[in-house]
Amino acid sequence: MSAQADRIYLDNAASTPVADEVIQEMLPFLKNQYGNPSSIHYYGRETSRAIQNARKQIASLIGANPREIIFTSGGTEADNFAIKGTVQYLKKTHVITSSIEHDAVLEPCKSLEDAGYDVTFLPVTREGFVNPSDLKNALRPETALVSVMYANNEIGTIQPIRDLARIAHEAGTAFHTDAVQAVGKVPINVKDLGVDLLSMSSHKINGPKGVGALYIRQGFKIAPIIHGGGQESLLRSGTENVHSIVGFGKACELAQNRLPQYQQQVSKLRDYFIAQIQQKIPHCRLNGSATDRIPNNVHFTFFGVNGEDLIIKLDENRIAASTGSACSVKKQKPSHVLKALGFSYEEITGSLRLSLGLQNTVQEVDRAVLILAQVIEELRSLSPFKSKYS
Ligand code: PLP
Repeated sequence: MSAQADRIYLDNAASTPVADEVIQEMLPFLKNQYGNPSSIHYYGRETSRAIQNARKQIASLIGANPREIIFTSGGTEADNFAIKGTVQYLKKTHVITSSIEHDAVLEPCKSLEDAGYDVTFLPVTREGFVNPSDLKNALRPETALVSVMYANNEIGTIQPIRDLARIAHEAGTAFHTDAVQAVGKVPINVKDLGVDLLSMSSHKINGPKGVGALYIRQGFKIAPIIHGGGQESLLRSGTENVHSIVGFGKACELAQNRLPQYQQQVSKLRDYFIAQIQQKIPHCRLNGSATDRIPNNVHFTFFGVNGEDLIIKLDENRIAASTGSACSVKKQKPSHVLKALGFSYEEITGSLRLSLGLQNTVQEVDRAVLILAQVIEELRSLSPFKSKYS
C-alpha cells in the first residue's frame, strides 16, 4: 500500500493509503455503474443498492442501525452538521465543547458565537483530558449540545466519552463526539457509549477522501444544513458520491475485520517507537496520555529544535511526519491544542507527531529513529541554545 518503496510514511493521522480492496470495490462505480441512485430504473437501483450496502458496513463498525447513518462529504461536514443542525433544531442558545477540538468543530462553534450564540470551551488537563466536573458545572438549561472529541488528532488522548455523555444527558443535553481519529482503531459501539451523534471520516481508515458520515441516534432530531433534493432521508441533499461511499463502506468492513490485529500490531509498534526515541534521543518528552491513547499516535516535544525544521529535514530524508493538524498548517498558527495543554512556546514549537498505520514496519521505525536522532543533533548544534541540549 505504500506510495513509494523507499519513502517512510508516518503521517497516517492526516490521511492513509487507500486499500487495494477498496479501490477494486470502487472501480465499477467509476465505470459501468453510473446511475443516479434516485433514478427508478435499473441503473439507479444498482447504485442505490450499493449505497445501502455501504450504510450497513459503516453501521456495523460502530454498532449502529444502518438507518442511523447519514453520508456527508467528510469529517468536517459531519461535525458542522452535528453542531449547527442540533442548535437549529432545538432553538437553544448555548453549546459546550473542549478547547482541543479539531477546527472542524471549533470553527462552526466560533461561527455560532459570531451569530450571537454562547459557547463554552472547556479546559483540559496537561495530558489532554476534559474533567467531567468541569462539564457538569458548564451545563445550563439553555445548553443545546455538548461536543467532545473521542480521540485528539495531535496527541492521541482518548476522552472518557461514556461518562461525559451520561453527564450531558442527566442535564437533558444532547451529546456529539467527533470520532474521526478513533473509528476503526479502537472498538466503538454507539449504544454502549450513549452518544446521540458521532462523526466519521473515510480517509483516516484506508478509504477514499471526501466522504464521511454522521451517526444520528434513531429518534434524535436534527435540522439539515444542506438543502436541495432531499437525499439521505431529507437530511443531506445532493446526489450521493456513490463510488466514494462504496469505498468508505468497504474500508469500514476491512477495519472491522482487522480491528484486533490493528490494535495489537499498531500499538506494539507505537510502544516500540516511543521506547526507541526515549532511549536514543536526549531531551525529549512524550506528550498526551501514556495509557488512554489511540494505537497509532506518537507525539513528542524535542527541546531545542523547531518542529517545522524537523519536518523539512525528515522530508529531505524521505520521511513524512507532521507537527499536528494538516488542516491547520494553512493557517500558520501555533497549535491551539498544545496551547490548551499549557505548553510553553518552546514546547509547542519543538513538537512532532508521528502517526502509524498497518503498513508501517519495525525496520521503518528503526530508520526513522536513526534519522530523527541525526537530524535533531544537527539542528541542536546550529541552535543558539546548543550548550543547553548537547
Ligand atoms: N476531526 C478530526 C479529529 C480530524 O482529525 C479531522 C481530519 O484531520 C477532521 C475532523 C476532518 O475530517 P475530514 O478531513 O474528513 O474533513
